[in-house]
Amino acid sequence: MKKIVIASGNAGKLREIARILEPMGLEAMPQSAFGVPECPEPHVTFVENCIAKARHAAAHTGLPALADDSGICVDALNGAPGVYSARYAGEPRSDERNNQKLIAALQGQADRRAHYYCVMVYVRYADDPTPIIAEGAWHGEIIDTPLGEGGFGYDPYFLVPAFGLTGAQMSMEDKNDISHRGQALRALAAKLAALEG
Ligand code: IMP
Repeated sequence: MKKIVIASGNAGKLREIARILEPMGLEAMPQSAFGVPECPEPHVTFVENCIAKARHAAAHTGLPALADDSGICVDALNGAPGVYSARYAGEPRSDERNNQKLIAALQGQADRRAHYYCVMVYVRYADDPTPIIAEGAWHGEIIDTPLGEGGFGYDPYFLVPAFGLTGAQMSMEDKNDISHRGQALRALAAKLAALEG
């Protein structure tokens, strides 16, 4: 089976990615297995940071690499917290403080529209001139009172009006079927299958 390195340390993401790649004859290996150091993410767009992470993992391992990057973009905040979603309220990272900061920033704001965004980048080698890029967006709105116990991050405050549920009220399977990450992963798998055979 052809090995590819996944530029993420998140066990849940690694499992999801491995499940999609396996039928394609690709074995997903976490970058921690190769001692890849953390990659700086200095850019203001998801796609730039994601390319940097994939390139970094490929450069350190000599293997093809897949990276993902995601966050939440709020319309009334000009797309913030965006690429800073994980560290919106500073270090150490805290979902609770991030959510409090977001709700405070939206006090008195009628426009509650927001979307989660996820991009995935696959490079065959570090200097691959034609990376494969796929993305997904999941639209909803930010509510003031948390609902649900599941999910993570901003999910208890992210209401999906079409379902009348927050991300934290959905089962993991239902969320993966419609989420930004599920969309990006399926799109990436389809592009990989078409381009790599
Ligand atoms: P990363 O892609 O693991 O760096 O995630 C970036 C950050 O965006 C997370 O730490 C969360 O704060 C937020 N985020 C991304 N995807 C989700 C999601 O599906 N639910 C809740 N928060 C998310």
